[in-house]
Amino acid sequence: MSRPTVRADIALRKGYHSPQVDVDVRLNTNEAPTPPPPGFTEALHEALEQIEWHRYPDRPATALRTRLAERYHRTPAEVFVANGSNEVLQTIMLTFGGAGRTAATFEPTYALHSHISKTTGTTVVEGQRRDDFTLDIDEVKRVVETHAPDVLFLCSPNNPTGIVDPPDTVETVLELMAGTNGLLVVDEAYGQFADSSAVPLIGEDVPLVVSRTFSKTWSMAGARLGYLLAPEWLVAELEKVVLPYHLDAFKQAAGLAALDFGDAMDERVDRIIAERGRLIEQLGSLPVETWDSGANYFLFRANDMSGDDLWQALVDRSVLVRNCASWPRLDNCLRVTIGTPEENDALVAALREILVH
Ligand SMILES: *Cc1c(COP(=O)(O)O)cnc(C)c1O
Repeated sequence: MSRPTVRADIALRKGYHSPQVDVDVRLNTNEAPTPPPPGFTEALHEALEQIEWHRYPDRPATALRTRLAERYHRTPAEVFVANGSNEVLQTIMLTFGGAGRTAATFEPTYALHSHISKTTGTTVVEGQRRDDFTLDIDEVKRVVETHAPDVLFLCSPNNPTGIVDPPDTVETVLELMAGTNGLLVVDEAYGQFADSSAVPLIGEDVPLVVSRTFSKTWSMAGARLGYLLAPEWLVAELEKVVLPYHLDAFKQAAGLAALDFGDAMDERVDRIIAERGRLIEQLGSLPVETWDSGANYFLFRANDMSGDDLWQALVDRSVLVRNCASWPRLDNCLRVTIGTPEENDALVAALREILVH
């Protein structure tokens, strides 16, 4: 029996994988260390009773978009919601990318930006960050002038490096892109950790969208809910592309319930920042190099052990971090998500056991 032929560009690719290993301490996917507050689950139980399961959900997710718009002082028509910010990004690429079009990334950055672009048939041009992983505006200029990308991705705080771009970066890049008809996508999945946001720059005549997610600081990775803020005309174009009723009724209710706990969610950010400082300091007494971060994760590598070996030795002690050791420019690096104090202590204890003889 012959197999139908997969698209040639898909057949050549390895999917995107983040191993889900059964361990006690999971610090590998930048989730929040604790579930949403108990009141959230109670509120969701009540909302569940109201769902008309035999009906399609509210297609434009009006209530959820209205609440999100209030949070950012925007209009509901400037908000687009989808199943995780990955689906938000995919919808952007289905709308603005495609065959014959180009997307630009600045590496190392979030792998899904190029992955999703390629899946939609978009050509990806990779610019490079500086050796210290900061964004090089001259490199952005070179990429814009050489390729005039249809979509240009920025990510601040950047994953996996944790670098926060200086506040004027988005305006500078918008100026560089003026006249190219390109769209600037700023991924603020960890935006709650940064002092500034690109959201206030959004306007009907500004080619800018900002994507955000409930997955990280909102303690809602299990819900798969993300959104973007963008000009109204642009959201209307995305609505043409996304599948009808893509956001189910349960998820809309979950998002609404979560928004009632905004203050509790924001408090978590402060706690995580304090833990991040404590953990980086503790690693300072071990034979490892660490990178400062403006997010809920940071990079580190051992002075005298390969990243692969260290990753495995941690798994053997039931601690899972992200193995970036073989990613371009991240030689031997591991990325750790800030966990609860107990989880972070377990990581430090495991590292001490492995690295200090
Ligand atoms: C985790 C992450 C996302 C994806 O989040 P989902 O909303 O869970 O799809 C998007 N961008 C960056 C930079 C991330 O780290």
